[in-house]
Amino acid sequence: VRMVFMGPPGAGKGTQSNLIKNKYCVCHLSTGDMLRAAVAAGTPFGKKAKEIMDAGGLVSDEIMVGMIRDELENNQECQRGFILDGFPRTVPQAEKLDEMLEQRGQQLDHAVELAIDDALLVSRITGRLIHAPSGRSYHREFNPPRVPNRDDVTGEPLMQRPDDNAETLKKRLATYHKQTTPVVGYYQKRGIWRRVDASKSPAAVWGTLQAIFA
Ligand code: ADP
Ligand code: ADP
Ligand code: ADP
Repeated sequence: VRMVFMGPPGAGKGTQSNLIKNKYCVCHLSTGDMLRAAVAAGTPFGKKAKEIMDAGGLVSDEIMVGMIRDELENNQECQRGFILDGFPRTVPQAEKLDEMLEQRGQQLDHAVELAIDDALLVSRITGRLIHAPSGRSYHREFNPPRVPNRDDVTGEPLMQRPDDNAETLKKRLATYHKQTTPVVGYYQKRGIWRRVDASKSPAAVWGTLQAIFA
């Protein structure tokens, strides 16, 4: 599987990526997770990235393309296939991705849009808890960890993302509609775009995805 996952914040990209990764043994590249790792490392770049993320904006195309290029070239797990979660978020990112893949003699199999109404995202985002080192996500109500506030795998504490509040969500959604929605048109023209109803349960969404990959 070589695919990109599109969808607004909270649509379920990370949750479904984990299922796909485990079934198909492909790498899961989440640009949000990569940026949060840079923020946690406290580098000068991380500090700049944090400001942008907390404001609900986008980090520059150049930096994001560089991060993905690095992974595709050096991460062995990506040889078998990949899930790009949260990338591309702009048309220039999508164009650069095509160039990179073309140079490698590869192409995308699917561009899946997890489509969902903005109104349903507030509760998903404000209830989200993450295990920062792995990127695993839980939900206070919809997918609670077995031990409250502890990761089910490592037992480590879970945290809420600083940008997961109602006010920043509004800005992130505005950014999504303005800058990322045009990417749908880009993949529609290429004939690889699929729209999946992301308002359904995680299991129902997973069923639809498996049918697409089969
Ligand atoms: P979500 O899970 O809510 O969709 P992500 O974890 O993918 O959000 O991204 C968090 C933030 O990181 C974004 O709001 C944006 O500021 C930044 N970011 C992530 N991916 C990209 C990208 N491809 N281009 C630019 N900025 C990005
Ligand atoms: P994204 O990566 O697109 O931002 P996540 O996969 O992190 O989204 O999901 C956002 C939040 O909603 C998480 O707390 C997750 O546990 C929860 N969630 C994911 N999929 C569903 C679903 N189908 N129904 C309800 N809650 C969900
Ligand atoms: P500075 O913040 O002064 O640019 P850094 O060493 O933090 O110094 O980053 C240098 C460059 O390396 C960044 O501009 C960015 O392009 C890239 N970079 C930084 N962090 C990461 C990361 N986690 N993954 C991939 N590339 C990164």
